[in-house]
Amino acid sequence: MSAVIECPDDGDVEGWWRLARAAHAAKLAPDQVVWRSRQGDDLFALPATALAPAPTAAPAIPEEAISLIATLLLHRDAARFSLAYRLFCRFSEQPALIRNPADQDVHRANMMAKSVYREMHKMKAFVRFRQIRTDEGEHFIAWFEPEHHILAATAPFFQRRFASMRWAILTPAASAFWDGNALKFGPGAQRSDAPADDVMETAWTTYYASIFNPARLKTKAMTSEMPKKYWRNLPEAKLIPALIEAASCRTAGMIETAPSSPARKIIPYTPPHHAAPETDRLAGLQAMVRACTRCTLHCAATQAVTGEGPADARLMIVGEQPGDEEDLAGRAFIGPAGRLLTIALERTGLERAAIYFTNSVKHFKFAARGRSRILLSPTSDEVEACHAWLEQELAIIRPKVIVTLGASALRSVTRSSAPPTGQPLMLGPNTFVVATVDPADLLRLRNDAEKRSAWLDFLTDLRMAAALLAAPQPVPAPVL
Ligand code: URA
Repeated sequence: MSAVIECPDDGDVEGWWRLARAAHAAKLAPDQVVWRSRQGDDLFALPATALAPAPTAAPAIPEEAISLIATLLLHRDAARFSLAYRLFCRFSEQPALIRNPADQDVHRANMMAKSVYREMHKMKAFVRFRQIRTDEGEHFIAWFEPEHHILAATAPFFQRRFASMRWAILTPAASAFWDGNALKFGPGAQRSDAPADDVMETAWTTYYASIFNPARLKTKAMTSEMPKKYWRNLPEAKLIPALIEAASCRTAGMIETAPSSPARKIIPYTPPHHAAPETDRLAGLQAMVRACTRCTLHCAATQAVTGEGPADARLMIVGEQPGDEEDLAGRAFIGPAGRLLTIALERTGLERAAIYFTNSVKHFKFAARGRSRILLSPTSDEVEACHAWLEQELAIIRPKVIVTLGASALRSVTRSSAPPTGQPLMLGPNTFVVATVDPADLLRLRNDAEKRSAWLDFLTDLRMAAALLAAPQPVPAPVL
């Protein structure tokens, strides 16, 4: 007996296993079966139902072999079905074969599985969601063109990573949808079904260009990590040719420029003008902060960095401590992290001028390394010494929403070491606390996929703060 078995060409691994077990139970040897993918219409193809039902006790083959076959079946090569069946029959007779990488079939399957894994990894890194707004709210849609049938196997990663977003990943062969509750799959789509651009694109490309370091550029390594076939769906890829071209000039410029001490121009502090009724109290408080010697941090720092913003601000942003640029200028959030925060505020419709910015620690803590000053985390005693200032700022401003940047800012505001839950907390009856990341941490991330997703999470948190500002009454939430 011989058979032609048709199999859907869509990465349906379970369907293939059913057919393979049935063929094995019918004692069909590998060379007696011709596997066809479903598009190849063949009048003589044997439908799956013509085979004996799959036995309940299928031959036992090692877990590793099952996993190899399952991955191999995601490969686009039509020959995968017959190779998988041959391996299935061989593994059932010789389970130890899986440990023989020199075997021709095992070697070929390993190579094909490697190509599938590599593409799954690339998909996790290079899927770019674009935001759209509908009557039902925000949705994120991505277009991706995989070579292999990896969508169903990779979608759970996006489900975990972007659990709070409603998203769709469209590919030519199939689509995946997540509505916050269930992951569903549907037919393929076209590139034009996904938005080409979105409001975050400019921010993301600006951010990408600003962190692009010409001295670190290794074009070969970069194109191997980010193969050109993915470029057309990556917004930042539009910048790469120009950045690479500019890199050689910028690097040469860096080499030619003689080392010099960084400009440590100390800009005298000028108090911002506020019209709110509590302005005088706030100005008095800030004068006391500038004279603070409650801990030893004032000894090395240039000056205290006081909070800044309207005394009647409804939104307060609390960071951990000022950085190098803030220390020199005496103003909060004006350095690299502050600039990134400003882009994020613009993207989420929060007006910087209406926000009160402060830090849980008011002096820059650092270690001198040559000409650089490396930021050090404050100790709990230093945070505690500064806490009285933060409490007074809170009492004067009485913000409706506080956004904390990073774990120590959250601890300092809530006086609790409970980790963030992803939901806003209440500080007293009228103030919401939204915990998010420190933008300085976003600048430190190396991996593009991580940067992108952390950036999206950051924007989501700020949007939550914007929505709470607009909400009429505080809604019940865990009270601290
Ligand atoms: N990060 C902070 O937490 N505070 C600043 O003032 C600047 C960067």
